[in-house]
Amino acid sequence: MGNLNLGQPLWSTCFLIATIAFGFTTSPTSHAQERPTSAGLPDAELITDLIAANRILADKGILDGFGHVSVRHRLDPKRFLLSRSLAPALVTADDVIEYDLNGVAVDTEGSAEYSERFIHAAIYEARPDINAIVHHHSPSLITFGISSVELRPTYHLAAFIVDRVPVFDIRDALGVTGMLVNDSSRGRALARTLGERPAVLMRGHGTVVVGPTLPVVVARSIYLEVNARIELDAIALGGPVVYLDADEARAVLAEGEHRAYERPWELWKKESSSQ
Ligand SMILES: [Zn+2]
Repeated sequence: MGNLNLGQPLWSTCFLIATIAFGFTTSPTSHAQERPTSAGLPDAELITDLIAANRILADKGILDGFGHVSVRHRLDPKRFLLSRSLAPALVTADDVIEYDLNGVAVDTEGSAEYSERFIHAAIYEARPDINAIVHHHSPSLITFGISSVELRPTYHLAAFIVDRVPVFDIRDALGVTGMLVNDSSRGRALARTLGERPAVLMRGHGTVVVGPTLPVVVARSIYLEVNARIELDAIALGGPVVYLDADEARAVLAEGEHRAYERPWELWKKESSSQ
């Protein structure tokens, strides 16, 4: 797990070389000084599940070359774990970087970072109940992010959106941008729109799904995309569409949403590890 080494920080080595070569006597750059300390090595099971989550979501077409999944560090709620900039299907334990809630890495070891890591940082900061986050660009959900038709629960596996899915329009929050949530202010604006809900659509961009664990956030990501396709199909058929009503959806959740995801998680994990 190269990026999680607790040894000499990369910046201090660079500064030493610069001092010798150029006679610098000033302190290292402010960016280097702001590097957070590590919470310590995360447990192996958490990393295994993070890699599995990346592969499962790639296998299911939720993540392609873009998108990412993160998990909160179990040793410190102010740290989270996310791959270096890499297609999710290729992520291994060596690619995992530890971040603080400002989106600053403990040590990148020179690796490129996901520019939208601030999505994760801001949501972990705003939502202590959340321990896993997925950001993706799955197409059927983008349709609902640009439409006046609301995404609603069509079947029991999408009951978790009973309180609806808000749409984050970055133009309303921050004016004309490159559409990416690539700094802390954009991340915090997105987190405000998410509020206490399990997902938020990003107009003209993608979706963020959150959950208390990796299995839950993976299942929610998969079933939310399936729900969007079902809703699109039902609308295309014509005639009135009957959605789960709020009482039904809450009754489904009372049966135990998280427990229900244990079975597919084991299957998906096995499938992803056999490839
Ligand atoms: Zn994105």
